[in-house]
Amino acid sequence: MSYDISKLQSLVDEALSLGKSCSGGANANYIPFLASVPPELCAISIVCCSGEIVHAGDYDYGFALESISKVCSMSLAMQQKGAEQVREKIGAEPTGLPFNSVMALTVHQDKPLTPLVNAGAMATVSFLDAPDKESRWQLVLDFQRKMMSKNVHLSEDVNTSEQETNFHNRAIAWLLYAAGNCFSDPMEACEVYTRQCSTLVTCDDLATLGGTLANGGVNPITKEKVIDPDNVAPILAEMTMEGMYDFSGDWAFLVGLPSKSGVGGGVIAVVPGKMAIAGFSPPLNEVGNSVRAQKMIQHIANRLNLSVYSPSPSL
Ligand code: GLN
Repeated sequence: MSYDISKLQSLVDEALSLGKSCSGGANANYIPFLASVPPELCAISIVCCSGEIVHAGDYDYGFALESISKVCSMSLAMQQKGAEQVREKIGAEPTGLPFNSVMALTVHQDKPLTPLVNAGAMATVSFLDAPDKESRWQLVLDFQRKMMSKNVHLSEDVNTSEQETNFHNRAIAWLLYAAGNCFSDPMEACEVYTRQCSTLVTCDDLATLGGTLANGGVNPITKEKVIDPDNVAPILAEMTMEGMYDFSGDWAFLVGLPSKSGVGGGVIAVVPGKMAIAGFSPPLNEVGNSVRAQKMIQHIANRLNLSVYSPSPSL
């Protein structure tokens, strides 16, 4: 499928100015590094399945991947173990509660329900076959690079800031372990999970990550086959149910695209078979989603009638 790239560029430019005019929200402050990122940064990128990139704003600024890394670790676990094993061991249900909720665990016998909340992501990392911590980390990092680009790297600053303050996540890892839902040493799982959140990516990288899913598991930029096509639909289903945390239902209603957000300010939205849209701007709303990235993505999705639930998509 080909697009009128100049029309797409005007729409992306329009979305950027709309995003920039949008106030409200605040940087995440429970991770000290994130509180220090300039809040006015704003970017929007589209990667088409054909490999074309359309972008505007601060699209080459490197920011923390955070929760969007959960898509990569979930995809890797499905590659290693099969999608059904991931559903059985971790789950495939929305929690309806915040991403770091202990209550969500407590009311479900300490089963995480989905790889896309903190508990589920740590369980997912622990579920990977790896002989030790460093090999577990290398697997996760290599997979992020395959879904995005080889430029993705760990930020020592973000990682230190997170490892020194992740007490809540450590508690969750021990709860999982006590219930038999953590499959490695729990502190190893928490440490590797924290590192996977601390890699720096650009908005173009994020759009490439989404583009790999839109393109049936083949990275549209490098053309490398990264994910088995059979795993793509289960990945997108998990993103639909939990990708925007306790706003996922509203997001499906308003936008209708499998998506994922992170507290670094990034959001990706996948248009299967066509493209992915990524937005970035640090200020978050109360559930932890970037205010401006949501606004920009919603604008483009609505304008192009991209909802997967639409009977008459315009592309
Ligand atoms: N590293 C963050 C945490 O574990 C990621 C959360 C997020 O992006 N929602 O809390």
